[in-house]
Amino acid sequence: SKIEELRELDKKHYLHPTSPIGAQQEHGPAFIFTKGEGIYLTDMSDQKVIDGMSSLWNVNIGHGRSEISEVASKQMSTLAFSSSFATFSNEPAIRLSAKLAEIAPGDLTATFFTSGGSESNDTAYKLARHYWILKGEPKRKKIISRTHSYHGVAMGATSATGIQAFRDFTNSLAPDFHYADHMSSEALRQVIESEGPETIAAFISEPVQGAGGLHIATKEYFKAVREICDEYGILFITDEVITGFGRTGTYFGMDHYDVAPDMMCFAKGVTSGYAQLGGVMISSRMHEDFTKLSTGTLLHGYTYSGHPVACAVALRNLEIIERENLIANSSQMGVEMLNGFKNLQDTFESIGDVRALGLMGAIEFMKDKEKGDRFPQPLAPMVVTEAAKRGLILRSVVFNGQDTLVFSPPLIITKEQINDMISILHEAIKAVETSIIQ
Ligand code: PLP
Repeated sequence: SKIEELRELDKKHYLHPTSPIGAQQEHGPAFIFTKGEGIYLTDMSDQKVIDGMSSLWNVNIGHGRSEISEVASKQMSTLAFSSSFATFSNEPAIRLSAKLAEIAPGDLTATFFTSGGSESNDTAYKLARHYWILKGEPKRKKIISRTHSYHGVAMGATSATGIQAFRDFTNSLAPDFHYADHMSSEALRQVIESEGPETIAAFISEPVQGAGGLHIATKEYFKAVREICDEYGILFITDEVITGFGRTGTYFGMDHYDVAPDMMCFAKGVTSGYAQLGGVMISSRMHEDFTKLSTGTLLHGYTYSGHPVACAVALRNLEIIERENLIANSSQMGVEMLNGFKNLQDTFESIGDVRALGLMGAIEFMKDKEKGDRFPQPLAPMVVTEAAKRGLILRSVVFNGQDTLVFSPPLIITKEQINDMISILHEAIKAVETSIIQ
């Protein structure tokens, strides 16, 4: 059959990102998706599943929007591509940069475009370092990030990533990256003090840590971080690659904290995955300094920086998010989702903690809630398998001994669909609990 043919070709020729290489080659893909509509994906064998992760935390407006394909098609047939280097520009990229300035936190006003989150992170570190060169403080080159953080897989982004396993994957990292405990602003202060404040370029943080296990910081944490960065003259960069564009129930994750960063990385939800786009925004103060102090060329740029099709898609995606009130829906449905998680927690012994901010949530398994002890074999991956059989795809996080299910459904999700998700989870967790008790 065609499915068998594709599965064999996949096993033989397709090296999948972030996948268990051995198992992938032995079993081939579990799903070969052919269609997406709303919160659902359908595969070649006509199995329809709820996309509980918006695929990779990114398909915020849901699948199958013909409005977006029309915009992309029109842009491709009029101007598919042109350079954004030097003095060249194009209307979608210009309008998108202006739109971003309108919605971004604080006084972030100027955007450097990339093709995704990893490129955005490497760009942010380079721009931060270049900024300090221009300011006459070239010693400021160290970047501090948080334990449990994820910033992508480019060289700088891997080096900034606080999840040790990603750094251990490669045996040489970029220099000048340091890590502070993810929940303690005092830990940040200690790293700054021990490294020497005059050597630190920037501190980078996700507003809510996603890939590292969905860790939500306290309000005080980011207030203190901002104060510490100001005290030592360090740039504060937020990585809103997941949390941007409505995911947490506000436009940006940092909006929950009333704290303005100096720079911000974004990607994913800016196009809801309909095109590859990311970027870095800088504050008006930094932009003015760049303009005033720079005498040479900004020697950083990607071929696809400011891609007209990706930018046109992003503009329409943001229009849909606003027109359909998806940010408010994210906030309201986020409460429904969390209530559903709490009901599951009341039902199942194995659930130790549940949490969510908007439609970004987690269920954490623990053998002993009081002591925080884990099960010898993590439950989350087993629940992922059981949920997939029942029509819900999810992701588990088991780094650093965690045992967590993470959720980020499309922002268009309805109350009824949340209930469907919770019912499937109920059955999946029941199946796993039953199997471990036996
Ligand atoms: N930063 C954060 C917070 C992310 O979650 C991700 C991807 O999940 C990235 C950066 C990397 O983005 P990309 O995979 O588009 O390179």
